[in-house]
Amino acid sequence: MISLTPALQPLARKRERGERLSREDGLALFAAPLLQVGLLAHAEKTRRHSARVTYIINRHLNPTNICTLRCPLCAFSRDAGDAGAYCLSVDDLLRAAEEGEPPDEFHIVGGLHPDLPFDYALELLSRLRARFPAAALKAFTAVEIDHWAARGGLAIADCLERLQRAGLDGLTGGGAEIFTPAVRARICPKKISGERWLAIHGAAHGLGMRTTATMLYGHIETVEDRVDHLLALRAQQDRSGGFVAFIPLAYHPANTALGGDGPTARDDLRTLAVARLLLDNIPHIKAYWVMLGLKTAQVALTFGANDLDGTVMEERICHMAGGDSPQALSEAALRRMIEDAGGVPARRDSRHQPLA
Ligand code: SF4
Repeated sequence: MISLTPALQPLARKRERGERLSREDGLALFAAPLLQVGLLAHAEKTRRHSARVTYIINRHLNPTNICTLRCPLCAFSRDAGDAGAYCLSVDDLLRAAEEGEPPDEFHIVGGLHPDLPFDYALELLSRLRARFPAAALKAFTAVEIDHWAARGGLAIADCLERLQRAGLDGLTGGGAEIFTPAVRARICPKKISGERWLAIHGAAHGLGMRTTATMLYGHIETVEDRVDHLLALRAQQDRSGGFVAFIPLAYHPANTALGGDGPTARDDLRTLAVARLLLDNIPHIKAYWVMLGLKTAQVALTFGANDLDGTVMEERICHMAGGDSPQALSEAALRRMIEDAGGVPARRDSRHQPLA
């Protein structure tokens, strides 16, 4: 039997009583022995989800890597005319959507193309909706929503309503990075502020959409920045309630202007475990195998994660930053990873509801 260090015992009692952890508690978790933090996070996950670990049959679509922002953290984006720059037509994307098993969810993210009209987004969603009526369309980060609103000359709420009428079910969680302004100024200086990112998700929640939340960690941010980011997400969830899952995103430095080393596996596991303990109002914590790698993602299932994301079927963004995980996984491989970690695999939909 492992006994907790004196610093962690009051935190464990708080969570057993359902009490919220403080900023100081979050900082203490980042300084505590890793396995003890993992034990606390796994107990929390088990209280909420028992042994069930979910996954989804999904397909990623990345319409373009041409982006006006060219964030230093990003290896995916290009300027128009650069080697490797691409922009897919709606027809191209529909053809890509047809490949393989029909998914339960499309996950659609891309760059901020300076010339694509707002109608492109509407046409993409409405044609996918017509062709795949049962699939959820989880599309665009808050950063892209801000861009589409500008392209369409619309307020955020009007832009979201138009996209929703075309078929949009929910937003993806990217673009949150780290909310601290001084960090944002170095890793993504032209991106919308953290406040605007949160407000756009709040607006989507107000329309009944469910969205996901992320944090990109392992670059130049401090532990304090991470804790403050998680607490800002928790506060937004108190206000608007529509985050269905949190996905910690491990920074991949290869081919980025920002460079650096990226997080270690221990840092990956600790960050995920702390998120599980601090985010008491976000039900699902995802071990995103594309960015963690398969083996760390599997171990993360005993550090607080209760979801492995999905089959993905061709991921481009992380792989252009040197990610060495596969570009797709079969359902059988996902189930094997979960069972081997002692979990009970369950296929889910985009809102994390179980599917037969
Ligand atoms: S991170 Fe997103 S917004 Fe920034 S350059 Fe890459 S694609 Fe563009």
